[in-house]
Amino acid sequence: GPRPPAKARGGQAESGGQPTIFSKIIARSVPATILYEDDKCLVFRDVAPQAPVHFLVIPKRPIPRISRVGPQDTELLGHLLVVAARTAQAEGLADGYRLVINDGKHGAQSVYHLHLHVLGGRQLGWPPG
Ligand code: 5GP
Repeated sequence: GPRPPAKARGGQAESGGQPTIFSKIIARSVPATILYEDDKCLVFRDVAPQAPVHFLVIPKRPIPRISRVGPQDTELLGHLLVVAARTAQAEGLADGYRLVINDGKHGAQSVYHLHLHVLGGRQLGWPPG
């Protein structure tokens, strides 16, 4: 029979270095609700929020996934975390929140442009599914 959607199988296959939907959001050819931008990163609301507040922090440089980073990315990755925390504060998440990076098939990654999820605004459970 037909295969279930890729996400139900545990994420999309890596797209072979092709630009993703996130490149189009950076280029403003696909709309998004943008919360913050600087020369290195972009922050925008997730189109399918899993919590009252759910936004994504992405590098403008299209690193496909966290398992592909190298020592040259150390400063950029630190910057993404600092921007995530500052934006969470600006979004009013004073009671806490969660940062998530999904990697590859088992991590249920669906977009192969590195991104930090920031989720908050309700009590989250642990462990995740
Ligand atoms: P992943 O499953 O790769 O960790 O997360 C990808 C995230 O990107 C998902 O939460 C999904 O809802 C979000 N997403 C996918 N396409 C779009 C889009 O076109 N716009 C926005 N704002 N979010 C998207």
